[in-house]
Order: sequence, then structure tokens, then C-alpha cells
Amino acid sequence: MSAVIQFQNKTEEIISYNPATGAEIGRMPNASAEDVRIAVENSRKVFADWRKTTFAERKKFVLKAREAILEEMDEIARLISDESGKPVAEAFSMEIAPVLDLMQYFARKTEKLLKPRKINIGLYGALGRYSKIVYQPLGVVGIIPAWNYPFSIPLGETAMALMAGNTVVLKPSELTPFIGLKIGEIFEKAGIPENVVQIVTGAGETGAALVDAAPDKIMFTGSVATGKKIAVAAAKNLTSVVLELGGKDPMIVFADANLEIAADAAIWGAFCNAGQSCSSVERLYIEEPAAEKLTELIVEKTKKLKQGAGGDETVSIGAMSSERQMKIVEDHVESFQKEGAKILTGGKHKDLFFEPTVISGANNSMRAMREETFGPTLPIATFRTEEEAITLANDSEFGLTASVWTKDLTKGKRVAEQIEAGTVCVNEVLYTHGIGQTPWGGFKNSGRGRTHGVEGLMELVQPQHIHVNRLAILPNAWWMPYSKTAIETFRGFARYFASGSLFQTSKLMPQLLKRMKELRRK
Ligand code: NDP
Repeated sequence: MSAVIQFQNKTEEIISYNPATGAEIGRMPNASAEDVRIAVENSRKVFADWRKTTFAERKKFVLKAREAILEEMDEIARLISDESGKPVAEAFSMEIAPVLDLMQYFARKTEKLLKPRKINIGLYGALGRYSKIVYQPLGVVGIIPAWNYPFSIPLGETAMALMAGNTVVLKPSELTPFIGLKIGEIFEKAGIPENVVQIVTGAGETGAALVDAAPDKIMFTGSVATGKKIAVAAAKNLTSVVLELGGKDPMIVFADANLEIAADAAIWGAFCNAGQSCSSVERLYIEEPAAEKLTELIVEKTKKLKQGAGGDETVSIGAMSSERQMKIVEDHVESFQKEGAKILTGGKHKDLFFEPTVISGANNSMRAMREETFGPTLPIATFRTEEEAITLANDSEFGLTASVWTKDLTKGKRVAEQIEAGTVCVNEVLYTHGIGQTPWGGFKNSGRGRTHGVEGLMELVQPQHIHVNRLAILPNAWWMPYSKTAIETFRGFARYFASGSLFQTSKLMPQLLKRMKELRRK
């Protein structure tokens, strides 16, 4: 076995359950801090060779891993559904398909995206020098994902990290360890060299141990609270961190929007993955004239959705992933009611199946409009003007994604650019994590750094500046020894050379020659 770590020091086991049935899926080792330390050490050892592989070689492994997924796609979809509770339809549409697309894109394009880049260095160029940027891998990338997209998020980050020349140690959520293990198996099937991708299963402490083991980068997806802990722990080793955190994403619907489409979008945006998406619609703001009609449409369509175990192919809404998460949703629904909002449909749960819940009469002063719910609730508020809509949308500690719905695209784009969020869609919702070419990440408490896109790739490399003097036949005027002539020359640098103008710089020539003579005499 290459990708799946052999635990020497396992302390205990973690148990994975199917949230829809409560049945045990299996047990995995709870890797100790020592196991994790060894994994990172082994990862660093193989990095020395992996970094030397060509883009073509890395591409071959990533494309083979893709093939391995395609070969057992149905089994993987079942596993994702069983371990996370999501409908099998979403395992395909929101996990497998997007990550396969991301893998082919970065396998084919990373070489081009990381092509060394020449820098225009202005007048220094006229002195026979040139500069370029080459992108060096970082080393060991530690990936700590959440349980909500347990396949696509860590696998996408792994593929990008590998293509950039890094090795990977991945700690899946304790709720979804078998999916994490599957990622390791896929690369193993692809024949990737031993220890280039390692999976360390375990609970939160195993994640903390991964941070303490000082990898060269941490890619974290999870809550704000854990993100802050990781940032503090990583700072001890100056490990840089990408944090993909929570959201309370607003959807703004203007009265001129296509309300049928907006209703379908709000439902999918709020209820897919049982509302457990970082970019779920958690606040719907409707322009007053359209509020009644759109609310009616949403309620009517929501009532027709089938809820049940994710394995049933006709199910649209599955189980929530954990009791802990469901309790938060229950608390928020109760809190909405206590503060005067009205449940129009849903509001109850049986086991971990929380009904898709539409709530009217919400406003930003309500607690549940401010905290992340991460469940199948759709609270609705109204607005009168464009300015008010923008103010309401921005009135949040979070800023992951947002959407604006209107037939007037000029207005849509104008509003979009005033919203404080990492991604703002006009007449679209939630799905851009599935477009691997586009950057993903939040403003405000929704995170730091980016995954996906060129911006995400840049998080996985360190830019190295190579500077060459092609005319190294004379000393530089600014070298030692210093003298009155030197200072006069440096004054000229400040006055003329630093202007960026060739004409101005030409005035410096007599003084420069004087200085050069002085340096050659020494
Ligand atoms: P958590 O913060 O609880 O956990 C995230 C990951 O961190 C898990 O693997 C967890 O392990 C691990 N972990 C827990 N404690 C520590 C620690 N001290 N040090 C290192 N690792 C630790 O988040 P959830 O799993 O509950 O995920 C839900 C959150 O994720 C939501 O807020 C959601 O918005 C956010 N999210 C953000 C996304 C984005 O792209 N911005 C995408 C998806 C989700 P274990 O599970 O084993 O405890």
C-alpha cells in the first residue's frame, strides 16, 4: 500500500455511521500525533523526488486517478451518499462530476498556468539585467476538509497540490473517513509513488496534530472557530494557511426577475446537500412587489420535494450529516419562531431528516439571520430599494458567496460589485465551486486565501525571483567604497533614474562615468 498510511501508534478507532440509517459503516484508526508526525516526515522525504517530476509525469498520475474514479463511479457515489447522507444524485452532480472536471483541467493546464514569467524591470533592463519568476512547489501540503463535500473538496485540493509539485497528507473528517480513504486508494491505483499522497484518519486531535507537524501549507475547510484555532497553531511554525470557512449567503431577488427560475434556484441553493453547503442560500431578500408571488412559488415547489435516504434515486433531500448539526438547525428554527418569523412549510425532523423549511417575516436583527445555520432552512425577508438590498446583504460577518437576480444585467452587475463576498453570481446560485477554473474563497470571516483557479494554484507554490546580470564586467555604481562622488551619483539616481524616464536618466551619465572611473581606480 502506498497512499494509505500504516499506523504504528494507533491509539483508538473512530467509527463511521450512515446518518440516514444509523448503521455502522466501519471503523478506522484514530491516528496519533506520532503517526501524523511520521506521515509528514515521510511526505517530506518523497517530496525531494516528486518535485523533480515533470508536469507531463504528474499529469499522467492525475489522469490515471481520474480513470480509477470513472471505473468505480457508481460505488463511489454510493459511498459518498452512505457516509454523508446526501442523495446519490448530488454525489454525482456536486462531487464526482465537478472534481473530474477540475482534475482534467489542472492536469492539462498547470504547466501553462505556472509557466515562468518575465518581469519588466524598466531601466534596469537597459543595464543588461533581466528578471523572471519561476514557481517552486512548497513541500508538504496538509489538507483538513469538512465532512459536507468529503470527496470533491479534498480530492480537488490534492490534485492541484500534486500538479504544483507538492506531496500531500490528508486528514478527512471523522464523519467521513472512508471517503477520505477512497481518495488515497484512487491515487494508489494510479500508481503514484509511495507516500506522495497519505491519508491520516482520525478526529479533531489528529487534525491538530497535522498542523503541529509543521507541513509547508495547510488547506483547511471548516468552521470559523476551528479555522481560528488552526491559524493560531500554524503561526507557531509560520505555516501558511488557506482557510475556507462558513457563510450566511444572501440571495437578492428584484421584482423584474424570472420568478419561476428564482424559486427553483432558491430551493436548490438552500436545500441541496440538506443545506449543508458553505455557500447555501441562508438569507433570501425579495423586492417587496415580488415577495408574495415568489414566496408562494417556493412553498408550493418545496412541498413537492421527496425526502429520504440518499440511496433512493428519486430522493432530493437526504439526511443531515450529524446530530450536532441538526440540533443547530432545530435551535435556529425555534429562534426564528420566538422572534416573530413564520414557518410556512417544514420545521420538523424525524431522526436526522430535517424537513426543508421555508420561513417568512425574517429580518437581520434575528439571531438565526446572523449565525450560520448549515441546514435546510430558507428564511425570507423583503426590501424596497437597491441600496437597502445591498446594505442588508452586507450586514453579516460572513462574505463567501451571494447572488443577485434581475433581468437588468447592468443593475445585476452594479449590485454584485457592491456586495462583500468572494463570489457574486448574477442569475446563478451556489454552483461555481464546481468550476475549477474560478477562484473560491471568502471575504470577512468566510476565510483567507483561495482554492481553485489560478489564484488557488498560487497558494500551492512559492514564487521565486531569478535575476540575471548579462553584463557583469563592471562593478555597480552603488557598491563600496562610498565617497562624495558616490553620494552625488546616488543623488542623481534619486532625481533622474528613479523617474523611470530614459531622457531624465541620460542627464546622469556624466556623473555615472565619474563614479565608474573612481571605482576602477580603487
Ligand atoms: P469543523 O471546523 O468542525 O471541522 C473541519 C475539519 O477540521 C474536520 O476535518 C475536523 O475534524 C478538523 N478539526 C477539528 N478540530 C480541529 C483542530 N483543532 N485542528 C485541526 N483540525 C481540526 O467544521 P465542520 O466539519 O463542522 O464543517 C462545517 C463548516 O465548514 C461550516 O462552517 C461550513 O460553512 C464550512 N465549509 C466551508 C467551505 C468553504 O469552501 N468556505 C466548504 C465547506 C464547508 P473532525 O471532523 O474529525 O472533528
